[in-house]
Amino acid sequence: MGCYENKKMKAAIFYKRGGIENLKFDEVPTPQIGPHDVLVKVRACGLNHLDLFTREGSHGVRAPLPHVGGLETAGEIVELGSRVTGWQRGDRVLIGPAITCGVCEYCTSGNDNLCPQRRVFGVHLWGGFAEYIRAPASVLIAIPASLSFVQAAAAASAFGTAWHMLVTRAQIKPGEWVLILAAGSSVGVAGIQIAKHFGGRVIATASTDEKLVKAKELGADYTINYAEKNFLHEVMRITANRGVDVVFEHVGTTTWEKSIASLRPTGRLVTCGGTTGRFGQTDIWSLFFKQISLLGSYGWTTQEFFAVWDLVGKQVFHPIIDRTFPLAETAAAQRYLTERKQFGKVLVVD
Ligand SMILES: [Zn+2]
Repeated sequence: MGCYENKKMKAAIFYKRGGIENLKFDEVPTPQIGPHDVLVKVRACGLNHLDLFTREGSHGVRAPLPHVGGLETAGEIVELGSRVTGWQRGDRVLIGPAITCGVCEYCTSGNDNLCPQRRVFGVHLWGGFAEYIRAPASVLIAIPASLSFVQAAAAASAFGTAWHMLVTRAQIKPGEWVLILAAGSSVGVAGIQIAKHFGGRVIATASTDEKLVKAKELGADYTINYAEKNFLHEVMRITANRGVDVVFEHVGTTTWEKSIASLRPTGRLVTCGGTTGRFGQTDIWSLFFKQISLLGSYGWTTQEFFAVWDLVGKQVFHPIIDRTFPLAETAAAQRYLTERKQFGKVLVVD
């Protein structure tokens, strides 16, 4: 019998879906581990827009209730199941992002991000907005000594997502023009760094000049304040009416038409989300006569993550932290995320 059995833990939990008032900071039973699991003391957990959708029950996300969100968790192992090998108490680990089946056509072809059985931590499984999290040892990733818990939790999803978008899906090449939308988001911050790493020429957009200064510091060659200027006109001015080779989309409805119009012939739009809405008009004429490609991108594969994580560990890529909140203030952290004032990652720590 482990010393965490019958123990309670603090967690940001919701018993029904809906507004922020449903998120309670409560005492709940600490998860019990099975023979192949570990129990991890959460030290940092990154916030994601998906946490808001999960709590609201919006965007088709239906978590089982009651639920603890939090997709991007870093912590240290405090208890190991009887069959777990290769890890020990005190190891610093990243969780997730998901449990996959390992046998389907996607898992066996290196596309485990598309596994239909995929269960995501913080969505289908309890996540990291808690003192402890249970996970099978098979999903653990060691945190290099060069990274703090906060840096590790801030880097994983942002760089994994941006790498899958730019490297795997859009196949970025040196010298290409890349338009990074909403550069203040954590995925935008990662997108700028990855595009520059592969020799891209980066145009970054953000809503304030303060964010644009930071985007430049990360390597953006040109910046556009989209709150003040039409970003399509600015893209065309900067590229002398050529357009960009790649648009890095995750904004959705409010930018979609202009994003497509920003592409040069044979350009690629790659998107990993639509935080402002899921529908946008596509100009079918420009799609065919410019031979544009619209590319969807979902998460990242286990295989490519090791390449990304190596570069994060070697500090080639830098996770950018906007601010942290104590675990007890997870609701305030989620409210802050909806205000979109951040540059980089917002996290809760414990
Ligand atoms: Zn599978």
